[in-house]
Amino acid sequence: MALETALGYWIVLLLVIAGIELWFGDEADRDSARRRWPANAALVAISAGMAAAVPVSGIAAAHWSQEAGYGALSLVDLPYAVVFVASFLMLSLRDYAIHLACHKVPVLWRFHKIHHSDRALDITTTFRVHPVMYAAIAIFHAMTIVALGLDAVAVTIYAFVVLVIDLAHHSRMRVPARIDRSLRSYIMTPALHHIHHSDYHPETDSNYGHDLALWDRLFGTYLAEPKRSAAAFRYGLKQFPEERADDLHALLAAPFRSGPHS
Ligand SMILES: [Zn+2]
Repeated sequence: MALETALGYWIVLLLVIAGIELWFGDEADRDSARRRWPANAALVAISAGMAAAVPVSGIAAAHWSQEAGYGALSLVDLPYAVVFVASFLMLSLRDYAIHLACHKVPVLWRFHKIHHSDRALDITTTFRVHPVMYAAIAIFHAMTIVALGLDAVAVTIYAFVVLVIDLAHHSRMRVPARIDRSLRSYIMTPALHHIHHSDYHPETDSNYGHDLALWDRLFGTYLAEPKRSAAAFRYGLKQFPEERADDLHALLAAPFRSGPHS
């Protein structure tokens, strides 16, 4: 029942933000939404249960491993504040590594590219994710949380923070440029994530972090500004022309196809 209630609130939140985006958008935004939203809405409906499984399974795994005394962090006697911060940083690094792997490991890219095929960004892009991808992430998240013995409170707070950040990264409701610029050295801001959604590979191959800019800066994948001019900037993937990017069947089947679109 709690899960159904949470899902209900989540759908309402999604609809409210989508409505605000449309209200403040121009005619081009509304035209883009008319073409892109049927496939995105269908993916939201298909994947909603699996999307919810990601935080729920992670939190359940953290409580289970903590009570059972499993995981690397349970082997050492550390002050709680250290365990909390270490858990948060490990979750952040794990998500950076997963996202990087989604781009570098061909079988993972086959599924992650569905998210990148959107030719514009708005709140619906957040959940434009293949259901198989959500299932794989839910299992991997639970496994890493148990193996590392991460703190259950940190896992719960992190799940909420990541949801808010994911919504902010894709929404049309932008952070003012001045604030974005002052935060981007430390935080993965929406503007930085938008660069990651470019159709130009040198730009896509950057800014993999979910929350902190730290990992991208540390591992050399940080890109503060697009390499191309604003006029040349495009979202999406060149291998996904419009007729495929807006076709639900093509999106669901894409990971299993071979050939030029794989
Ligand atoms: Zn990506």
